[in-house]
Amino acid sequence: RGKRAFIAGIADDNGYGWAIAKSLAAAGAEILVGTWVPALNIFETSLRRGKFDDSRKLPDGSLMEIAKVYPLDAVYDTPEDVPESVKTNKRYAGASNWTVKEVAETVKQDFGTIDILVHSLANGPEVIKPLLETSRNGYLAAISASSYSFVSLLKHFVPIMNPGIILFVVDVAGGASVSLTYIASERIIPGYGGGMSSAKAALESDTQVLAFEAGRKHKIRVNTISAGPLGSRAAKAIGFIDMMINYSLENAPVQKELSAEEVGNTAAFLVSPLASAITGAVIYVDNGLNAMGVGV
Ligand code: NAD
Repeated sequence: RGKRAFIAGIADDNGYGWAIAKSLAAAGAEILVGTWVPALNIFETSLRRGKFDDSRKLPDGSLMEIAKVYPLDAVYDTPEDVPESVKTNKRYAGASNWTVKEVAETVKQDFGTIDILVHSLANGPEVIKPLLETSRNGYLAAISASSYSFVSLLKHFVPIMNPGIILFVVDVAGGASVSLTYIASERIIPGYGGGMSSAKAALESDTQVLAFEAGRKHKIRVNTISAGPLGSRAAKAIGFIDMMINYSLENAPVQKELSAEEVGNTAAFLVSPLASAITGAVIYVDNGLNAMGVGV
């Protein structure tokens, strides 16, 4: 059978998650999506009304099918963790079973297993504030939504991820996961505040430790893509995305706009058997901008 992927962090057709879903679908994977609860209604309505039909088109002319959309809030692991104010919030009222543990359990009931886990989500409520002006709560919220969310997703999905198996001497590539990071983790990017730079540094470090732990125990690979700038919904909220796109266009070794599809294709490669020896890696998909020491 084809592989089955769960992609956390799709709420429209502009972001990296959508592009990764398309690349995986084009390669024959079955697509399950986790959508942030407050964004669920509009995403599902738009999907149903055909608003995304143009961008669902795959290279062979068929339309990407999403087998199921799950409500998800990756900031909460179990129902016990959800505060009363969120439980009673009307943006959460219509949905159920959206904590990480419950989503993994529901996917297990619905489909049994998955092969691929994609983390394409981030949130930093104080992202527009410099780090020096970031509150403790803002900083911890950024880490919770953007870094621990990956630890939690992997932890809860690992038991239902198909492990790699060794058949005679042939290694059959098993489960794989991939997340999205940004170079602000390791270089100064003024404007990427609120502890988001710290959150990406944590995500990259965790990629290594989790590659070891999930690799040894379950033969699951863990990688992250350090992506260049894309005018997604999340990026527009930061406020400097057009400037970053222009900066990249002017200064990167390859002077072209980065397309989400290029990141999607890299993710499809990384979770495929073609990348069976790659784990614990940060892979740059940024037209080479990371390699420049000075803009010219
Ligand atoms: P996006 O808006 O398409 O994706 C972010 C998603 O995260 C949204 O769908 C949002 O609903 C979801 N989300 C936020 N909080 C959540 C929560 N608590 N639970 C579940 N979902 C939640 O934007 P994007 O830019 O494609 O972001 C995807 C990933 O790519 C992020 O990790 C981002 O940091 C990373 N990235 C983006 C850029 C860029 O320039 N856009 C560059 C490098 C890395």
